[in-house]
Amino acid sequence: MPAVSSVLVTGGGLAGTATAIGLAAAGVAVDLIDIKPEITAVGSGITMQGNGLRELRRLGVWDDALAAGYPFNSLGLRAPDPAGTLLAEIPDARTGGPDLPDLPATLGLPRPALARIMADRAVATGAKLRLGTCVSSLSQDDGGVDVVFCDGSAGRYDLVVGADGIRSATRRMIGITDEPRPTGMGIFRAFGPRPASVTRTDLYYGGPCYIAGYCPTSEDTLYAYVVEDARDRSALTPAERLAAMRALAGAYHGPWDDIRQTLTDPGTASYTLFEALVVPAPWNRGRVVLIGDAAHACPPTLAQGGAQALEDAAVLTELLLSGDSPGDALWSAFTARRFVRAKTVVEASCQLGQWQLDHEQGDIPGLIAQISALVTQPA
Ligand SMILES: Cc1cc2nc3c(=O)[nH]c(=O)nc-3n(C[C@H](O)[C@H](O)[C@H](O)COP(=O)(O)OP(=O)(O)OC[C@H]3O[C@@H](n4cnc5c(N)ncnc54)[C@H](O)[C@@H]3O)c2cc1C
Repeated sequence: MPAVSSVLVTGGGLAGTATAIGLAAAGVAVDLIDIKPEITAVGSGITMQGNGLRELRRLGVWDDALAAGYPFNSLGLRAPDPAGTLLAEIPDARTGGPDLPDLPATLGLPRPALARIMADRAVATGAKLRLGTCVSSLSQDDGGVDVVFCDGSAGRYDLVVGADGIRSATRRMIGITDEPRPTGMGIFRAFGPRPASVTRTDLYYGGPCYIAGYCPTSEDTLYAYVVEDARDRSALTPAERLAAMRALAGAYHGPWDDIRQTLTDPGTASYTLFEALVVPAPWNRGRVVLIGDAAHACPPTLAQGGAQALEDAAVLTELLLSGDSPGDALWSAFTARRFVRAKTVVEASCQLGQWQLDHEQGDIPGLIAQISALVTQPA
């Protein structure tokens, strides 16, 4: 018997949908809410590493994800020179683990496609999805959590899972005051057609940006990005944002010359400051627990945030389905399996950026290898 029979999940990102799928598939009554009116509204692309793909497979969405995305197994390093010289092609770590050799090292996906796949699976397993909804208040006693929603409706649940992202309202509602901190970098991203020259992620270090890169997200699409010192770019119109990104990317060549020509839709261009957060353990207060970016968030220098969110969901689901009541033993087990691992990933992601900010030659390959070895182990 699961430890819970009714669960509210706030937030329909990777952490929330994965939790909803795992619990609903086991017969738990799950309400999954998201404040947005449309779950697929977030654009751009995402790079999913093998340990995240392992979770997608466990959730029964691997075939759909593979069909929607673009798999690859190596990383290119290119110079910021007039030829975009390929300096190295490095085999990517297969962090899905040796037991799943069919998984690629990496899958690029359009974010809206992945969001649709996850939401559809959550609904198919029996979760009730409500969009355009949020929680206005939570109160709990020994037996459950009373929730009032923003539309005035109410419910009582055995457990509330706060998967509402880096600016989690659930986090604040349970009295946790930790907030994300800026790490000093900002990223332009844009989404566009995939030229034939792009068949994997290539990273260019140096030039006017810290990093310029791209990731194929399907046969037809890619997302491209340039990382700079954090700046207030909020006054830029979408057209100005795309123009600024294209101007910075003008220093990069090779496949970038093809990409620049086809990045023409200002509606796909975004600018985001890098932020980091590790909420000290435990991530629960009674019967309300935080997972994913609500509990720990990293700059995307290792592209591990999505995978870590999926791992939180997997471990929480496993513990809840193993029959423990949501009490001290369960929360201790959750902390033991998730806190140090997620914190290590956040710290390593920050370190990679900090070395660049400090113009310091850190052991980048060594740190990446250390994290790859860590996340290849089961969560
Ligand atoms: C620029 C950038 C690039 C990144 N690139 C990668 C990458 O390539 N690979 C990777 O693995 N990770 C990447 N990440 C990190 C990754 O996006 C996150 O770690 C991951 O999306 C976290 O998932 P989540 O479900 O915890 O949160 P989110 O994806 O943020 O989902 C939270 C959900 O909660 C909803 N919500 C918010 N507030 C409320 C509320 N009050 N009530 C109800 N719902 C609410 C939101 O609408 C959203 O749908 C990147 C992050 C950034 C900033």
